[in-house]
Parts: sequence; C-alpha cells; structure tokens
Amino acid sequence: MPQRTILEVPDPRLRLPATPVEDFDESLKTLVADLIDTLHHSGTAIGLCAPQVADPRRVLVMDLSSRRCEPQVYINPVIQSRARFTFAEESCLSVPGVLVNVWRATRVLVQAQDPTGAPFERELDGLHAVCLQHEMDHFAGKLLVDRMWFLQRLRFNRRLARA
Ligand code: ZN
Repeated sequence: MPQRTILEVPDPRLRLPATPVEDFDESLKTLVADLIDTLHHSGTAIGLCAPQVADPRRVLVMDLSSRRCEPQVYINPVIQSRARFTFAEESCLSVPGVLVNVWRATRVLVQAQDPTGAPFERELDGLHAVCLQHEMDHFAGKLLVDRMWFLQRLRFNRRLARA
C-alpha cells in the first residue's frame, strides 16, 4: 500500500470543504489503506484525514495504540454530543513544528460509517475524542493556524515567509 504525500500549509487544498462519501467502492478501500499506511509511517502522529492527502472525501483514521496496530476508521463522522471541555495541546502533520492549545471536548458521541458503509456509533474519551475533533476540523478547512493566539500566529507566519 503506497503512502501518500501529506499537504502542508499554506497549500490552498487544505482549505477546501470535504465532501461526503457516497460510493463505498474500491477507491475508498484504497484510500483508507493508504491513509493508515501514511499515518503509521509519519512518526508519532495519531490521526490523519483524506483532505490532508489531497482527497476531498470525509474519511479519517486514528491509531492511539502503543504498538500502532489498531487503526480506527471513521467515514462521514457526525458528532452527536460533546462534554467535559478542556484545553488540549495539539500538533498537526500539515502544520509542522508547532503545538497549539485548543479548547476541546474530551468526551464525544460520534456516528459514522465503516469502509463497507455500515453505520456505527461510538463514545470516545480523552485523546481519542480530541483527535477526532481535530481531524473533523480539517473537513471544514480549519487548521491549527486558525487556533493560534495572535503572537504565535505572527511568529508562525514569519517562519513560513522565510521558508
Ligand atoms: Zn491536522
């Protein structure tokens, strides 16, 4: 399974809204397999979604297992409820080199579909919940850059301008 190239800011494709998956076909299975492979080769990242590899579909994968062998796949996820908010420190493969504090729910109830199209519902806690919300931000074209405080964003933009 080939890895895919991860887009980084300021690539405009990261800002496009994602589209719902309607066809649970071979191309979707390939995408899911490639996302998992790319995530597992990315170092320590715990989540990745299709828009980060220039595919507009609403597909995300997470793996928080210590041996990185228990990937979870969420297609067309919708959060039904959020609770227990706190600040969580997040990083992003598409916004390299920064940590940003984001106000997140640490308990969510999510409905989604698996790669065959079968619907499921799951309650997520802690980092699982935070990661899901982070990846779903990508579906709306929203990035950690938008969550930075003013000075942090200023420093980040300066660094981008120098690159
Ligand atoms: Zn991200």
